[in-house]
Amino acid sequence: MKRRYLIGTLALLLLGSYVTWSYLFPSSNIAKKPIAPQKFDLAGGPEREIRGFPQREIIDLASEYPDVFFRQGSMKEAKVALTFDDGPDNNYTVEMLDILKKHKVPATFFVIGSRCEMYPEVVKRMVKEGHVLANHTWSHPNLIKLSNKKALEELAATDKVIKSQGGYTPILFRSPYGSLDREKVELIREQGYKIIAWNVDSLDWKGLSAAEVKTNILENMQQGSIILQHSAGGIGEDLSGSVEALDDIIRVLKKDGYKFVTVHELLGIPYKK
Ligand SMILES: [Zn+2]
Repeated sequence: MKRRYLIGTLALLLLGSYVTWSYLFPSSNIAKKPIAPQKFDLAGGPEREIRGFPQREIIDLASEYPDVFFRQGSMKEAKVALTFDDGPDNNYTVEMLDILKKHKVPATFFVIGSRCEMYPEVVKRMVKEGHVLANHTWSHPNLIKLSNKKALEELAATDKVIKSQGGYTPILFRSPYGSLDREKVELIREQGYKIIAWNVDSLDWKGLSAAEVKTNILENMQQGSIILQHSAGGIGEDLSGSVEALDDIIRVLKKDGYKFVTVHELLGIPYKK
């Protein structure tokens, strides 16, 4: 009887301290909200911390390797290519796909291999709805910090998952954070890829509002542009502004007479091996 009383008191004490702790430190409640699985995170860190790879470097590489490194198409035709990085997810990517479908507009998705493995149904939907799949590495590392061997493994694993889910081996490749140097460009070229950068950056990874995303895109538009948006982010990154802007961007550009094409069509190059 006495023993049972002791256990009861102990249990009450424990419960009491838990309640007090939760009250004093409400942040411990965060664990109750659903969080994305750890493997969803970007290996090289969030875009907002790593980005800042100089656009000047991208322009230099594009002029130095004109056969393999592209940042825009011909300025003589009113064509534009929408590109979306870092998907798939089961949230923003799906919303982007819905908007593209509504407007019957094709896009190019630079997908992360590990995320394809998590959301194969979204990858299959991209292909079914006429979009093109392109390689954006397996784990989204900062490539210039990787050995050549590790970099090639990132590309090969992503090719493999795109092949199994999308039915083809991609030729188009975009480097995470835009980060590349001459050594890596030459390595990637040897594997038969075409490296795709951009000339219009929405900067949507900063969590901008729809109005800001729209301004960044529309004010920098020219014929033959390759526009960069994201269809998924790192954990906790907000792309709702980018999703909201997309509808208007398509409407305005269509009114201005632009034709939406995939990147390979804009550049007149193949997209699959
Ligand atoms: Zn990326």
